[in-house]
Amino acid sequence: MNDTEYEGFRKKVLERVWTDLAPFEERIESEEQIPYAEINPVITDLGLWGLMVPEEYGGLGLTVSQYLPILSELAKVHGGIRVVVHVHNSNAHALSVLGSEEQRRAVLPGVAGGTMSIGFALTEPDFGTGADLGSIAVRDRDEYILNGRKHLISNSDFATHFIYFAKTDPDAGELGVSAFLVERGASGLAIEPLPETMGCKGGEHGRITATDVRVPVQNLLGQEGQGVAQLEETLELSRVLVAASSLGTAERALELAVEHSRTRVTFGKPLAHRQAVQRYIAEMAQDVYALKLMLSDCARKWDAGRRIPAEASMTKNFGLEAVGRVTDRALLTFGGIGYTRAHSIERLYRDARLNWLEEGTPTIQNMVVARALVGGYTIEDGW
Ligand SMILES: Cc1cc2nc3c(=O)[nH]c(=O)nc-3n(C[C@H](O)[C@H](O)[C@H](O)COP(=O)(O)OP(=O)(O)OC[C@H]3O[C@@H](n4cnc5c(N)ncnc54)[C@H](O)[C@@H]3O)c2cc1C
Repeated sequence: MNDTEYEGFRKKVLERVWTDLAPFEERIESEEQIPYAEINPVITDLGLWGLMVPEEYGGLGLTVSQYLPILSELAKVHGGIRVVVHVHNSNAHALSVLGSEEQRRAVLPGVAGGTMSIGFALTEPDFGTGADLGSIAVRDRDEYILNGRKHLISNSDFATHFIYFAKTDPDAGELGVSAFLVERGASGLAIEPLPETMGCKGGEHGRITATDVRVPVQNLLGQEGQGVAQLEETLELSRVLVAASSLGTAERALELAVEHSRTRVTFGKPLAHRQAVQRYIAEMAQDVYALKLMLSDCARKWDAGRRIPAEASMTKNFGLEAVGRVTDRALLTFGGIGYTRAHSIERLYRDARLNWLEEGTPTIQNMVVARALVGGYTIEDGW
């Protein structure tokens, strides 16, 4: 999409998410379910299912610089809607990177139009992550037989396919993990819901059990043993996208806190006149500004075709700390009423806490950064 087309598109989306999606906030929080029948037409009409799907497969093929402002705005409007659109697009991006031409052609056009969706099945209840997986895929002529358990798999209620990580060689450590494209309807695949989440409400992050699921060899993504490298590649961009979500949540919390500080009067003066509250506002703005600059650096480098392992994990970590501080201070600015559902700050506070966990905890991010730097990676800073 060229710059002029993008400006028109961005303006339209940034307006319509507020007129057509924001009014669902209260209902989603109360019912803890996204009313897809009413929301899907808006998402489809705006083209949000295909934001990250390359144009040749019917998507909009946005660059990361173009995508980030839209994702951030969705995080302001509602965390649950943000997660659904974000996960759908991230996993479409993962398939466009990892899949063969045939695999991409079979699924991505449906994903772009919202009739298909991909879940990312990595996390397991009984094992760690990366090389520590309990799911096993054993080759049997022209099929693999897949067994294992996954949980917390986003969009599991409507995903038509899953990128499923399993061990193909249990003795080969990191080189023993492979990724498969598994169809929802595959015999032996059971999908169940998990209890509702603390924030980003309404989406489903379910449990998947594979019992002797037969996966055709054509559904292997890439080569056997590439799973951990594929994970690193796809999670890198995803981490930047989680940070963009932190930015949206933080910006909205700041906007609401500033607005509240202007109108709430105590001892004859608006809160905004009190030095203590001014300090909260200044510190919140500082976090938002710094996060935005980190994100634009990541986007610029990624769009120029660079890998950014350290920058992505640092930005993800800074983003979750920043949004944590900002939502803390915004809540304090609101006082007690902020702890009730009278204002969106209560929701933003809970939504923000997911960013600690999505795409790996802070411990994992620190490990990735340290590993990159110790391995000789240099952070090009553009100075
Ligand atoms: C709403 C939601 C949606 C999600 N969506 C998806 C999804 O679509 N697909 C998917 O695959 N996953 C998904 N996840 C899972 C998420 O990525 C993981 O929860 C997260 O990466 C943490 O992994 P874990 O839950 O297995 O935690 P654990 O591995 O049990 O970790 C618990 C704590 O121990 C620490 N820890 C664990 N191992 C070590 C170690 N070796 N050394 C030091 N510290 C360690 C961790 O840092 C963490 O603090 C989702 C989670 C949530 C909450």
